[in-house]
Amino acid sequence: MAERKIDKTVRAVATSDGAGVRLSRAIANAELEDLDPFLLLDEFRSDDPNDYIAGFPDHPHRGFETVTYMLAGNMEHADHAGNRGLLVGGGAQWMTAGRGIIHSETPKQDGGLMWGFQLWVNLPARNKMTAPRYQDIAPEAIPEVKIAGGTVRVIAGAFGGVTGPVQGIVTDPVYLDVRLDSGTFETPIPRDHTAFVYVYQGGGSVGGTGLEPKILGILSKGDRVSATAGKEGLRFLCIAAQPLNEPIARYGPFVMNTREEIHQAFEDFRNGRFA
Ligand code: MN
Repeated sequence: MAERKIDKTVRAVATSDGAGVRLSRAIANAELEDLDPFLLLDEFRSDDPNDYIAGFPDHPHRGFETVTYMLAGNMEHADHAGNRGLLVGGGAQWMTAGRGIIHSETPKQDGGLMWGFQLWVNLPARNKMTAPRYQDIAPEAIPEVKIAGGTVRVIAGAFGGVTGPVQGIVTDPVYLDVRLDSGTFETPIPRDHTAFVYVYQGGGSVGGTGLEPKILGILSKGDRVSATAGKEGLRFLCIAAQPLNEPIARYGPFVMNTREEIHQAFEDFRNGRFA
């Protein structure tokens, strides 16, 4: 078995999005435009409501999936079709935007810590216009696998004989939240998957390379990856999925294969054809 190493590290860039939510962007920045099939990774973390309270008012998506995972705080989701959900700390939402969703993402607290992540995962051409779908995952529905020195929360994919609750995603994703107080962690990762880690707390090493918070490490090809906690422990996301190897035409909240499809998305949105 070939161990995956860190090919490259990328530091998340401070920016803001929505109605002024301050966040750190680890994919979709100047250094890392995308990482097929991943299109964006944001971390938002603040206990100052001014940094998050305005949230993300109504906006569209087409052609990909958004994955929100909350460590702390509450986020309400509401879409044009009347779907509503409340994401709470420890919970996740895997939203397949497909042919089109118009939604808002609104913090549901006026104080305290808001901490979470949003990942965008591309859809292959044949699935870009699929019907929208939500998988809302309550915190208690995410299995926690005990390992020596820590815990692994399995959101998607499998670890330690346990399969995560997110099902039926075309890119066959792995999404693990690894919380190591000490010692080491190791997991197999499908050989042909694109894979990365993103450290959100503590420090340590992954594939032999030292990492710290807000650093994304792109993993080389291989069958497995290992990590070792530093003195203060190590918490990170370990994420993988099948690459698509298709052309990307991207403009804001629309991700298609051609410029014509982007123009079509704008026209459909303007003419109310998302609803
Ligand atoms: Mn959105």
